[in-house]
Amino acid sequence: MTNNSLVSSIRERYQKIQSQIADAAQAVGRNPDSVKLLVVTKKQPLFVVEATIAAGIRILGENYPEEAVQKQETLGEKNKVEWHMIGHVQSRKARLVAENFAFLHSLDSLKLARRLNRFSAGAEKTLPVLLEFNVGGELSKSGWDASDESRWEVFLPDVEEILSLSNLEVRGLMTMPPFYQDAELTRPYFRQLRKLRDYLSDHYPLNQWNQLSMGTSGDFRIAIEEGATFVRVGQAIVGSRPL
Ligand SMILES: *Cc1c(COP(=O)(O)O)cnc(C)c1O
Repeated sequence: MTNNSLVSSIRERYQKIQSQIADAAQAVGRNPDSVKLLVVTKKQPLFVVEATIAAGIRILGENYPEEAVQKQETLGEKNKVEWHMIGHVQSRKARLVAENFAFLHSLDSLKLARRLNRFSAGAEKTLPVLLEFNVGGELSKSGWDASDESRWEVFLPDVEEILSLSNLEVRGLMTMPPFYQDAELTRPYFRQLRKLRDYLSDHYPLNQWNQLSMGTSGDFRIAIEEGATFVRVGQAIVGSRPL
């Protein structure tokens, strides 16, 4: 595939997903503009990232801090993008993330929050973050375990301290539900995240809890019906990932 045809096929798929987003939002009476589409380029080679930018896409999601920063540096002048970190961040990578990303979707521990706060202060910035919750309770997934509603108060002390960190700005929640072939089966998990958001909002009403980052290529429509404000779509726009 020539680069031009890659650019136009990414642009077409992006527009198709945008119109599906608008349909899903309108079907439940939501404003389509309330849903932001993040294009996930993790593991994709640089030429795919370049084609994505050439297609006019301006918000990219990446999972691995080093891989993303390397892409940013290689892009140089062409790096006109807002980078969002969506994968698990090890504490020792906190500095890389604080300095090189506009938004973190996957804040999953108090320890990481403290370090991000320190490095964000050093970089004289405030980092917008989402708290990641593991609503399915799977061992392979990151985030505070939120599978048992009767135990939600267990993580309130962590949330409370994170809200007090002055160089982090908590905007809402994020989740990655268990994978199902049938996207409809993810609905209860998305619903659970929204319920958890309402619970935290009741406990900490002074904070803005507007953002819900949920839904990927396979299940973004369901996520939007359940209140997603960010959907993170990779394969359906930039194609399958190299192994
Ligand atoms: C890879 C990934 C996505 C995108 O998944 P696709 O199936 O490519 O749409 C979204 N969110 C997270 C956290 C991911 O790791």
